[in-house]
Amino acid sequence: MASEIRYPRVLLKVSGEALMGSQGFGIDVAVADRIASDIAEAHRLGVQVSVVVGGGNIFRGVAVASKGGDRVTGDHMGMLGTVINALALRTSLIKMGVDTIVLSAIAMPEICESFSQRSALAHQAAGRVVIFAGGTGNPFFTTDSAGALRAAEMGAAALFKGTQVDGIYSADPKKHPDAVRYDTLTHDEVLQKGLAVMDVAAVALSRENDIPIVVFSIHEKGEFAKILSGGGRATIVTE
Ligand code: UDP
Repeated sequence: MASEIRYPRVLLKVSGEALMGSQGFGIDVAVADRIASDIAEAHRLGVQVSVVVGGGNIFRGVAVASKGGDRVTGDHMGMLGTVINALALRTSLIKMGVDTIVLSAIAMPEICESFSQRSALAHQAAGRVVIFAGGTGNPFFTTDSAGALRAAEMGAAALFKGTQVDGIYSADPKKHPDAVRYDTLTHDEVLQKGLAVMDVAAVALSRENDIPIVVFSIHEKGEFAKILSGGGRATIVTE
């Protein structure tokens, strides 16, 4: 029931790395299907879900820059990678019967519609899952920042960040078993402690727009819907 839903409209950030599974590169279709099934479950609950996908499983601009190449070209390559991931996630959602549209920050009309806030809101109002591709459309940004930006533009009640673990820790718990896990934090604490959950621009933008960030494990099947329904396990960053 709608009254049980904690966040009726959300923006989910899915990193490219989440889509590659254990392959080390590219897209594992079984993993994309699994993540899509979580989005489909949330959609069935009546939650308006839009998604920003990363591209780190395909390309990161810094990889070009670190070898003496042009950073801007590298970032263009990275943004194109996010479009590939968006199409893969859309394919998975369509297979599950979820009407889904990809909107790109970089115009490529033969492949998908271009982003505008107006059309994104219209597609969402029509009951579609909206996937945002191309990041912010600008080099020197990340898809985390695109997540915070689109969350604000869509009027999302929360920015969900799916990660490899079940919340924010004081250090990487895979490398530091004694790392402390936080249940709640403020945006300022995330910035002051330098917690590497999202980049500074993304956290600052969310703080400015008073949007909570919900950090949870993208690999825990059903967790997304559980948190949306008021349960589940996550770190919640709020003022
Ligand atoms: N990128 C960019 N501008 C943006 C978003 C992304 O230039 O607004 C480029 C950048 O090179 C980045 C790559 O796309 O490294 C992939 O995005 P990101 O690293 O955020 O993906 P994720 O880590 O979430 O998979």
